[in-house]
Amino acid sequence: MQLKPHSRIVLKIGSNLLVEGGAPRSGWLSGLAADVAGLSADGHTLVVISSGAVALGRAALGIGTRGLSLPEKQAAAAVGQISLAQTWRDALAESGLKAAQVLLTSEDTEDRKRHLNARATLNTLLDAGVIPVINENDTVATAEIRVGDNDRLAARVAQMLGADVLILFSDIDGLYTSDPRHDTAAQHIPHVPHITPELEAMAGGAHNHNSTGGMHTKLAAAKIATAAGCAMIIANGTTAHPLKALLDNGLHTLFAPTTTPLSARKKWLAGMLHLSGEIIVDDGAAKALGMGKSLLPAGIVALHGDFERGDGVAIKDKTGVLLAKGLSAYDRADAEKLIGKQTRDIEAVLGYAGSLEVVHRDDYAWLR
Ligand code: GLU
Repeated sequence: MQLKPHSRIVLKIGSNLLVEGGAPRSGWLSGLAADVAGLSADGHTLVVISSGAVALGRAALGIGTRGLSLPEKQAAAAVGQISLAQTWRDALAESGLKAAQVLLTSEDTEDRKRHLNARATLNTLLDAGVIPVINENDTVATAEIRVGDNDRLAARVAQMLGADVLILFSDIDGLYTSDPRHDTAAQHIPHVPHITPELEAMAGGAHNHNSTGGMHTKLAAAKIATAAGCAMIIANGTTAHPLKALLDNGLHTLFAPTTTPLSARKKWLAGMLHLSGEIIVDDGAAKALGMGKSLLPAGIVALHGDFERGDGVAIKDKTGVLLAKGLSAYDRADAEKLIGKQTRDIEAVLGYAGSLEVVHRDDYAWLR
């Protein structure tokens, strides 16, 4: 499989690959980390979603393989996450990479304000050349705010970061017409242009105590990713150097994106129904927005309504014509202080180093 130059890649590693007999598979992980380092040296950007906290915590607590209640799972995750993060830090360090631990809940990827915060942190880490290693924040994730499985979490992260490709490493090399472990006639499906009801009917459930997701959760992830303009791949990660093997023509299933990341986002922004406020801009800013540039404080002439950071706002010109819908990087009170100000003055005006744009170029849809 071919990567386009400077791809943004989200890599999801399941517990079964990472943990064996209650301990991390360090040798295998070293190989994977070396692959990650190779791709990053080639100019690609990588983010890891790693499971394994519950599996490692189970072993540390001596729980064995029985089914766990939600609080027990959360407790196991709290114990195991420490070793999981340490395992990744050590493996990436061997290949000269720095790791960051990021724990998210579904609220962090769905709520707009938290989404902006999480995205900004992840982008800052990526700009600094750090590999974020993400897991669900299992300790605080009660039923309502749980993503539930890391396949879906990985897809949400891919969507949030505008990733080009999401790779789900599994113990199977893709989607089959039936379960190849039980049916010798099962055929591999290399390419999925659209997720159809027939395809969904083919997907089975989870099949062992360490993995939350089966093909069903992988298809749910594929729906989120492809609608966000991100290709998704399911490949077998069990071999040594699994990323290299995949790129050297390894067998896999590719789910094709149904749009581009930017147009998916712009469509979503253009379709926002609830707008909490209005930003009125001068002619210079209107022109800059029309050319796809960010909205800077200097171009703002007035504000209306009460909005929070991350809320949807209408951007209008001085005659009241709706130019764009976007997400404000500031709440009304701070945006008010910034009206007409120069970017270099933001810190002095607010007393903290806020974002340089009031609406970032990726966060509005031009409607004219
Ligand atoms: N967050 C869980 C863990 O780290 C795994 C969830 C999943 O694999 O889907 O153990």
